[in-house]
Amino acid sequence: MSSESTLRIVWIYPDLLSTYGDRGNMLILARRAAMRGIPVEAYEIRSDQPMPSSADIYLIGGGEDGPQALAAQRLIADGGLHRAVNQGAAVLAICAGYQLFGHSFFAKGTKCPGLGLLDLHSDRGETRAVGELRGDIDPRLGLPPLTGFENHGGRTHLGPGVSPLARVTAGIGNDSQTEGAWHGKILGSYSHGPALARNPAIADLLLRWAIGADSLSPVDDTWADRLRGERLAAAGA
Ligand code: GLN
Repeated sequence: MSSESTLRIVWIYPDLLSTYGDRGNMLILARRAAMRGIPVEAYEIRSDQPMPSSADIYLIGGGEDGPQALAAQRLIADGGLHRAVNQGAAVLAICAGYQLFGHSFFAKGTKCPGLGLLDLHSDRGETRAVGELRGDIDPRLGLPPLTGFENHGGRTHLGPGVSPLARVTAGIGNDSQTEGAWHGKILGSYSHGPALARNPAIADLLLRWAIGADSLSPVDDTWADRLRGERLAAAGA
């Protein structure tokens, strides 16, 4: 971690990108860190503010095409997020935020440059992908199945520089076959819901990446497990 063992979490552009409860990802991360006695400072950086490059975890959510294109332009011009990633920060990027981490994406029918921090690109789908999403996560990450809610028009195509986050077992994700992507400490997904409330093991993975730990002390996940069971059943598990 960057300074005196305080974990610093940045929520990127809440004024532009935060749909379907994505703000909950920051609350879950902060809560699960606090349950382990890890001091946390959480920052909400609006699109008219400079992006700090010294935080440990960056979160970015979903949004409509207009705010998505604006967010990408501002993040490219700012450069702070690129510096943070190059310095080894962990990232969770959801839906529009996930698409803009790639080389390019479509917004309002126009191809827009992305940040190029994940080797992928997104184009327009023929239909909108809306509903419950479920997938078996890359076994190398050692996590239980992914559950989420998706609502996107784009489809995402992965290059050789990233690995799929999951194999789709219900819903669409990237392209009906794979869902999300990861590389290094960057993890992208189409899962709203919010993703970390529905997948607390992903929250703990981000915390482990950020603090450089192989494991964390267990916490009571009774309520999270109940939510997961309900949503996995809704997806036809
Ligand atoms: N605008 C993007 C799309 O429709 C992302 C949508 C979202 O973030 N929910 O593909």
